[in-house]
Amino acid sequence: MSDDKRSRKPVPRPSPESLPFWEAAKERRLLLPRCNACSRFFFPPSQRCRHCLSPDVNWVASKGTGRVYSFVVYHRPYHPAFEGDVPYVVAIVELDEGVRLLSNILGTPPEDVRCDMRVRVTFEDRDGASIPMFELAP
Ligand SMILES: [Zn+2]
Repeated sequence: MSDDKRSRKPVPRPSPESLPFWEAAKERRLLLPRCNACSRFFFPPSQRCRHCLSPDVNWVASKGTGRVYSFVVYHRPYHPAFEGDVPYVVAIVELDEGVRLLSNILGTPPEDVRCDMRVRVTFEDRDGASIPMFELAP
């Protein structure tokens, strides 16, 4: 059949540490791990705070806003399911909470994307998962 793995975009395979992140994303909420000991956010999720190593961490809703910290434009599909998307933007987004996520910038031509642009989260549904992506903030 043509509906094989090559024609579908990959979906997240949550680890025990990242499961709350992906479950919240399905509800179009962006959650971030935050340390109760030092009050700082960190990413990617971990059983211990990346700043002070405290195991006292919980999940807090992100404002979902930030800026483009850095980006590249992909002109070649590295997975067959992305053939129709090129050129597209892969960006490191720095959220206002201070953590950085690797994601895509949607809805803006790649040539118009700039570092420090304000962005906000949006979600792309994919085979039962929902992936946090970013678009230009109004
Ligand atoms: Zn900490």
